[in-house]
Order: sequence, then structure tokens, then C-alpha cells
Amino acid sequence: MRILIIEDEQKIARALKKLLENETYAVDVAYDGDEGYAMATTEPYDVAIIDRMLPGEYDGIAIIKEMRQQKINIPVLLLTALGSVQDKTEGLDAGADDYLVKPFALEELLARVRALLRRPAEHQPSVLEVDGLKLDTVTFNVTRSGKPISLTHKEFALLEYMLRNQGRPLSKDTIISHVWDYDADILPNTVEVYIKYLRTKIDAPFKKPLIHTVRGFGYKLEA
Ligand code: CA
Repeated sequence: MRILIIEDEQKIARALKKLLENETYAVDVAYDGDEGYAMATTEPYDVAIIDRMLPGEYDGIAIIKEMRQQKINIPVLLLTALGSVQDKTEGLDAGADDYLVKPFALEELLARVRALLRRPAEHQPSVLEVDGLKLDTVTFNVTRSGKPISLTHKEFALLEYMLRNQGRPLSKDTIISHVWDYDADILPNTVEVYIKYLRTKIDAPFKKPLIHTVRGFGYKLEA
């Protein structure tokens, strides 16, 4: 899943990027409001973490309002140094889904991001599953028919994205834009290579393949 961070405090932005990348997310960072606005409204993110006070024409509230106006309905977590009730309601009214007051514990931020990625919450449990293949987005455990499977960060991220979109044909471009960040070195065959790695681990040892090639288009995860 791909996350956008808009935060002008470079130290915080870098710490968050590192933290989230360790959790297998693809992460892009914008350091001011205008760059953040441009990225939020052009790239396909799954979650945005947006600081309230930002240099530039757009502050956090303005970016969220603009996203909602443009029907970009991804979950947004608003960060702020201010903790007043008025501040909170202003953020939520603008269209933020959740709100975190600085300073916050990193674990708290991770828990909030996970909760936002589960929305609509009722349909997205923390363990994603298809035909005996289970991926736990909290503990990072992956098993098929009860057998543990060891995946790299990128393999895990790719499988998580496919599980969240199971049954749906996914183009290679779509996969790249949700699993790799903007600065990643993408080669023409990057997706094929990672699909091959995944097939070796989750399909090859078992009778029934779950990853299907959609000819001339991409791939589909389906029982
Ligand atoms: Ca700020």
C-alpha cells in the first residue's frame, strides 16, 4: 500500500518514512503544502498523512478540502501541534478521517494507519485471506494451509495489495503505483520479477495456483 506524507519538519517526515517503509509500505514525502497538494491530487495513494501547518499556498486543511472536492476519498490522517477541540473539529470537518496531536508515539501512528487502511473497516480484517493463504497485516505472518511462508518486504507489500484487491485484474502500472514509491528504480520487468518470486513461494509448493496472469494486462489473485 502506498502512503503520502506531507510534513515540512524534515526530521519527523524522515522518521515517519523510515518507520512506514519498515512496515512494507511504499512511501513518498512532500515537504511543503504546494508539492503535497500536487502529489495528493495526481498520484494514486492508499492513505495520506498530512501535517496541518505547512509552508506554501496550501496548508493541511486546504489540501484535504481540495482532495475531497476532487473526489479523492482516500483515508487521511491529520497531524497537528495544536490540540484544541476547535482545531480537531476543523480538521474533521474538512474531511480528515482521523487526527493525531504532536508529539505522538510512533506505535500510535502505525495503529492509526492500519485502522485507516482497513476502511471500510467492516470489510477489511487485519488478516487477509484467500483459499487457505493468510496474511496478517499486524504481525507480518504469512501462511498457506498452515505452513509458514517467509517473504521479503516487497513481496509482502505486493501480496498484501493483491489480497486487498482479490478477484480484480490488476494492470502492471496499477500494481507499481500502489506498491512502489515515486523514487523507486522500476525496470520494465519489475512486476514480472516480483510475481515470479511470489509464485515460487505461495503457489509452487501447493496444488492450486492463486496468482493468475491476465494476458496482455497484468495479474489477478483469485482462488
Ligand atoms: Ca508543520
